[in-house]
Amino acid sequence: MEKVQALIRKNAVMVFSKSYCKFCNKVKDIFRTEKIDFHSIELDLMCPEGAVIQDALAKLTKQTTVPNVFLHGEHVGGCDATVKLFRDGTLAERALGTYRKRDFDLVVIGGGSGGLAAAKEAASLGRKVAVCDFVTPSPRGTKWGLGGTCVNVGCIPKKLMHKSALLGADIKDSNHFGWEKVERAKHNWEKMAYEVKSHILSLNFGYRSDLMLKKVQYYNAYATFLDKHKLKLVDKNENVIEITSDNIIVAVGGRPNYPDIPGAREYGITSDDLFYLQNCPGKTLIVGASYVALECAGFLAGFGLDVTVMVRSILLRGFDQQMAYMIGAHMESHGVKFLKNTIPLRITEKSPGSPGELAVAYKMCDGKVKEQQFNTVMFATGRSPCTSNIGLEEIGVELNKRNGKIAVDDYERSSVKNIFAIGDVRDRTPELTPVAIQAGRLLAKRLYGQHDEPMDYKMVPTTVFTPLEYGCVGYSEEDLIALFGPEDIEVYHTHFQPLEFTLPERDKNKCYGKLICLKSAGEKVVGFHILGPNAGEITQGFALAMKLNAKKSDFDDLVGIHPTCAEIFTTMLISKASGISVEKSSC
Ligand code: FAD
Ligand code: NDP
Repeated sequence: MEKVQALIRKNAVMVFSKSYCKFCNKVKDIFRTEKIDFHSIELDLMCPEGAVIQDALAKLTKQTTVPNVFLHGEHVGGCDATVKLFRDGTLAERALGTYRKRDFDLVVIGGGSGGLAAAKEAASLGRKVAVCDFVTPSPRGTKWGLGGTCVNVGCIPKKLMHKSALLGADIKDSNHFGWEKVERAKHNWEKMAYEVKSHILSLNFGYRSDLMLKKVQYYNAYATFLDKHKLKLVDKNENVIEITSDNIIVAVGGRPNYPDIPGAREYGITSDDLFYLQNCPGKTLIVGASYVALECAGFLAGFGLDVTVMVRSILLRGFDQQMAYMIGAHMESHGVKFLKNTIPLRITEKSPGSPGELAVAYKMCDGKVKEQQFNTVMFATGRSPCTSNIGLEEIGVELNKRNGKIAVDDYERSSVKNIFAIGDVRDRTPELTPVAIQAGRLLAKRLYGQHDEPMDYKMVPTTVFTPLEYGCVGYSEEDLIALFGPEDIEVYHTHFQPLEFTLPERDKNKCYGKLICLKSAGEKVVGFHILGPNAGEITQGFALAMKLNAKKSDFDDLVGIHPTCAEIFTTMLISKASGISVEKSSC
C-alpha cells in the first residue's frame, strides 16, 4: 500500500497496467498520442509483488481491474473513464494539473438545427450545457426567434408555401374530379403569411420550453470568443456577460449573400425576408438558379405571380444536369420565365411602396444591357457562414480560406481541440437540416456517451421542392461517368404519368425516374433520381436501400405498391444505352 501511494504521489500521471491487456495499451496509446508524460508499471511482469499491488489498489479504489489510472493524485478509473476525459477534451489539462472547473461542460453557439440537437443530447447525457442564439436582423430589418434557419427562414416556411402552391394546382385539377365553382378560388398572400408566421411562433416557443425542460441554459445573445474556453455574450440591450466552458460547439449556420451591385441591399430582399413579407411580392425577379431560387420561383408562380429567374450559368449546379434541365423545362411550361446567362448590374427605385416598382439593369451573355421593371427582386445567390468577427481565427481555429467554413476532422473537431463545428458552418458538409441534426446528436454522444463512430456524410438524400419535386440520393450521371468511365455505367430510366395527373391530362412525360448502376459492382445502384409528386417521401425510403448497398436486381425483386409513382423503380427495364424511347403514349 505504501509503495502504491508513493507511486501515485510521485507521478503526475500514474497507470497501473498489465502488459498483455488491450485496455491498458489503449490508455497508454492515448497518453502517447496526446504527448502526455506518464509512468506505468506492468503488474503481470512483477511476480509476486504485482498481485499484492493489485490487492492494495482494490482496497484503495474499490477497483479490481486494470488499467487503474491516477491524475495528480486523483483516482480517475479504468479505460472507459480515461477515454471519457480524452473525449470531452479535459484529459491534457487534468494531466498537467491545470484543470479548473468551468461554468459549463458544453456551450453551443447557434440555436439552429445542429446546435439544438447537440445541446439537448449532451444535456440528456447528464452534462451542464448552454446554448447562445442571436439573430442579426436582415438589412431589411427582418428578425425571428429560436430555432435557426430551417424553422424560421428555411425548410418550414418554404415547405408550407410550396404546399400552398400545390393546393392551387390541385384546386384547378379538382374540377376534373367533380368539384364545382373552383375557378372562383384565389390566393391570399396575407392570410398564408399570417398562418405560416403563427406556426413558426409556436415552434419558437416549443424550442424554448424544450431547452428549459432539458435544463439547458439559453442565452439570447451574440457570442464571440475571448479565448478557447471563454465567450463574451452580448444581448439585444447591449448587456455583456462572460461564460466559460470545457467544450464549445460552433453551429452558427450561414446567411444569404448579396451581389456587389448598386441597389442590392437597399432595394433587394433575400429568402430571409420573403417568408415575412406582409404583402404579396407581385412581379418578382429571382437572381440565382439553385435550391432556394427554384423553390421560391416555383411557389410564387404557383400563386399566379409573374416570376422571372435570372440564371448566371446553369440550373442546380452539382445536381444531375439531365434532371436540372427537366425541372427548368417543367417550370417554364408552367409560366416561370428564365433569363439565361445573365447577371444583374444595378437596381434603382422607380416608385416606393409595398411592393413598389424597381428597375433592374442586367447584362446578357452577348454583352447587351437591358432593363426591366419588377415589384420585388430577391437574391438567392448562395449563403456565407457566420464565421467572421466571432474571434475564431484569433484563437487558432482554422477556416477554409475559400469559403470561410470551419475546417474539421472526421469527428467534427477543429484545429483547436475543444472547439467543434457542425451544420452549415462545417466545411465539406451538405447544407441540410437532417445532416446538421444527426451530426450534432452524434457529436454529443461521442463526447459524453458511449458512441465512437463518426457521422457518415455519404449517401445523403435530398429533395428540391420545385413544383414537380426532385429527389435524389447518390451520384449524378455526369459525376459517375467522370469517375468510372461511361462503359462501367448502366442507366435505367422511364417517364411516368402519376394517376392523379391523368384526369386533368396534365404534365404528360414530365415525370421521370432513373437508376444509375455500376456494372463492375454487380449493378449496384449508386444514383437514384426522381422528378414527380412527393419525390421527397419516395426518395427517403429508397435512400435506405442505397445505404444498404442495394443492387438493380434487389429493385427488380421488390414488389411494387399500385397505383403509386414509386412503383416504377421496381419495373425499370429500359436502359438508356438501348436508345428505346421511354415516353409514355398512353396510361
Ligand atoms: P442554422 O439553422 O442556420 O442556425 C444557426 C443559428 O446561429 C442561427 O439562429 C443564427 O442566428 C445563430 N448565430 C449565428 N451567429 C451567432 C453568434 N455569433 N452568436 C449566437 N448565435 C449566432 N434543408 C433541408 O434539409 N430541407 C429543406 O427543405 C431546406 N430548405 C431550405 C430553404 C431555405 C430558404 C434555406 C435558406 C435553407 C434550407 N435548408 C433546407 C437548409 C437548412 O435550413 C440548413 O441546412 C440548416 O438550418 C442548418 O442548420 P445549422 O444548425 O447549421 O444552422
Ligand atoms: P447555392 O450556393 O446552392 O446556389 C447559389 C446560386 O446563386 C447558384 O445558382 C449561383 O450560380 C448563383 N449565384 C451566385 N452568385 C451570383 C451572382 N453574383 N450573380 C448571379 N448569380 C449568382 O445557394 P442556395 O442559396 O440556393 O442554397 C444554399 C444551400 O441551402 C444549399 O446548398 C442547400 O443545401 C440548402 N437548401 C436546401 C434546400 C432543400 O433541401 N430543399 C432548399 C434550399 C436551400 P452559379 O451556379 O453560376 O455559381
